Amino acid sequence: MSDPTAPNIEPVAEAILREILSHQRRMRGGGCTQEVCPQCVGHHLNAVRSAVESGRRIDFVLPAFPVKSPNPAKVIGPLPDLAEELALRFLNSLCERITEIHPPGAAILICSDGRVFNDLLGVSDENVSGYAQALDAMITGIEATHLEQFTLDDVYDGAGHEDMRAMLSAGYAPTIEELRAEVRTGGAPLAMYRGITRFMLEDLSGPHYTGTRSALQRHCRALAYRVIQRSRAWGGLLDGLFPAAVRLSIHPQPCATDKIGILLADTPDAWLTPWHSVAVESGGRFTLMKRAEAEKAGAELAFTAGRPSHYALKQPGTSHPADTVGVASDPASAHHEPWSRACA
Ligand SMILES: [Zn+2]
Repeated sequence: MSDPTAPNIEPVAEAILREILSHQRRMRGGGCTQEVCPQCVGHHLNAVRSAVESGRRIDFVLPAFPVKSPNPAKVIGPLPDLAEELALRFLNSLCERITEIHPPGAAILICSDGRVFNDLLGVSDENVSGYAQALDAMITGIEATHLEQFTLDDVYDGAGHEDMRAMLSAGYAPTIEELRAEVRTGGAPLAMYRGITRFMLEDLSGPHYTGTRSALQRHCRALAYRVIQRSRAWGGLLDGLFPAAVRLSIHPQPCATDKIGILLADTPDAWLTPWHSVAVESGGRFTLMKRAEAEKAGAELAFTAGRPSHYALKQPGTSHPADTVGVASDPASAHHEPWSRACA
């Protein structure tokens, strides 16, 4: 084994972290500084340096891509669409760029957490299975060879879905009282609780909801704690299974903590994800918007291979949105920088 301070190891490890951290999803007021945060580079340097030093592939674990939001005002339908495809292409291209720096390569294990809390969102286990299968097919179809999916079904193979969630909670979940105490201290736990509560409110306030707004708010505040409890359990289980992996998160993270928050898309809302929104194409570039907002902005539903896949926003001065769909239906052409703030 070579000396960890050997001249080429440290710069390679740093270059890899710079590549990841240039797409960092930061918590507002979380303490990060500069375009690529030097404190965050320092915090994760050991894990990456150890992989570089031993010539190993760099493995990332990303709990994400759970299931589509059940609210039709936010998404096209229950299956992955162009919003997911663009995010997968982005993650795969990130690994390709790391492989150019570090030839043993990089891989992102997408630890889909739909099965972990779908019952709390009122989403069926069938929808979770359908989404995960379609995501696997998409990873294969776009030849995203650096990505792989891992779910609760892989952990408790053959068990019933309710039993899987019960075993996960029994083994790894903190108590609600512990989580409440954390949130009371403010800072990052409070920001996370508020963000999740907002998601729940949006997801559950679809046309099927007939109760009062204040009753829904109370319900969602209680549900948010249970979602965080299950997510924390899933994270604990993954830490045990993949101890050498670098942890990524779709949520904004404070500076120099165990997880690196990562952007899956360029969007004005740091909490918006492909499964809570639709991809909107404008002038050959994409952004994420809630479906109702895309429609309000005048975007029209666009199809790829006969299936609804995204929205297209007519540019001022162009003749028809169909003119731009040719660009959008070939997202590979936007391989490295598919997202923009064109619609923000
Ligand atoms: Zn930082």
